[in-house]
Amino acid sequence: MQLTNRSVAVDRSPMTLRERIYLPAVLGGLKITLGHAVKTIFKGAPTTNYPKEKRPFSPVFRGLHILNRDEEGRERCTACGLCALACPAEAITMEAAERKKGEEHLYREEKYAARYEINMLRCIFCGYCEEACPKDAIYLTETVMPASYKRDFFIYKKEDLLITREQIDERKAKQQHR
Ligand code: SF4
Ligand code: SF4
Repeated sequence: MQLTNRSVAVDRSPMTLRERIYLPAVLGGLKITLGHAVKTIFKGAPTTNYPKEKRPFSPVFRGLHILNRDEEGRERCTACGLCALACPAEAITMEAAERKKGEEHLYREEKYAARYEINMLRCIFCGYCEEACPKDAIYLTETVMPASYKRDFFIYKKEDLLITREQIDERKAKQQHR
């Protein structure tokens, strides 16, 4: 049974003398390589001189995560665990805690994440956590994951993930300029 119409019949006819000496095929390959080399010499290399130059990212690029705050600066995360459930890499760990009286200015909901961690070594930046979150509490930014030789560096704790007041202002300014 054929699943697609893309199959091509294999040509099993005997090779001609020209095909058997291979030289024309090798010269054809060299011609293509030289063509690219000449283009690179005269038009400039198509490589980016990183880190001096940075090429623009795709609009759908997903980088490091941020834990969001509301307009009053309170943590939005309610430690429901949906992001951890949706995560195919099991990269998210959290511990919930009850909001106490007097902490209303810190946490938006009655429950909050006392501990929230993402293991970036496991993360595949799929964005499922962002999609699963009902509180708009987590999103993936355009920041590229920095490199390190230490494994501990890649365990991002709540303090590393929580958006700062400056980042909120920056984001607002960006939205105004759009
Ligand atoms: S981006 Fe994907 S892999 Fe990474 S923490 Fe979110 S759900 Fe998990
Ligand atoms: S980030 Fe969103 S989905 Fe994850 S625990 Fe917090 S509120 Fe729930």
